[in-house]
Amino acid sequence: MSTEVHRVRMMMELRRQGVSDDRVLGAIERIPRELFVARHFLDQAYEANALPIACGQTVSNPVVVGLMTQALEVGDRMKVLEIGTGSGYQAAVLSRLCRRLYTVERHKSLLKEAEARFHRLRLHNITSIAGDGTRGWPEQAPFDRIMVTAAASELPQALYEQLAIGGLMVLPKDKEAGNQVVLLVRRVAEGLPEIEELFPTKFVPLVKGLPQH
Ligand code: SAH
Repeated sequence: MSTEVHRVRMMMELRRQGVSDDRVLGAIERIPRELFVARHFLDQAYEANALPIACGQTVSNPVVVGLMTQALEVGDRMKVLEIGTGSGYQAAVLSRLCRRLYTVERHKSLLKEAEARFHRLRLHNITSIAGDGTRGWPEQAPFDRIMVTAAASELPQALYEQLAIGGLMVLPKDKEAGNQVVLLVRRVAEGLPEIEELFPTKFVPLVKGLPQH
């Protein structure tokens, strides 16, 4: 079956699973997912699955990318931070929706490959660094929106503090018994954050610090 047929099927699956925002659907439609998956998994590039990439990590399921991106309500003038660049797929989708996208990855080799993809696709509004994303990117804060694409055990305080007041963060978080849930967090001026549970999920863990090699 041709790539085009697979792409159309993926877009139908996104709609079927609740992605209805036209801007989000348009952004996903314009990013060729086959450029972000390992050659070995090319035939599955447009299936609704997460796929392995290097360093034991994964490129997220496109449906999860769609639902999390939709929940973030990204506007075209916004400054957005992503934690966990991985293949760069989620960053590429977000970059089509906002003014500037910042992304942090702890594995340098993954970041280099992602940067080559951004370059190839001429996604010039993405700025990326290698580092520990649990600390956010203080020099660039505040952000209107933050998306974390690895599962945290707690709400990362540094990230919350780098959100503009009224800003939104979407992140997968550990729950009891090895389960995870995607949370939508709103930064408030004072007091406790407003938190909504969106849907169950499965992400690789958010790991503090940098790899040894
Ligand atoms: N957004 C990615 C998903 C990658 S999986 C994509 O679309 O392909 C999650 C990524 O988070 C992995 O690459 C992992 O290395 C990274 N990660 C985990 N903990 C991190 C941390 N503390 N700081 C930065 N990146 C982290």
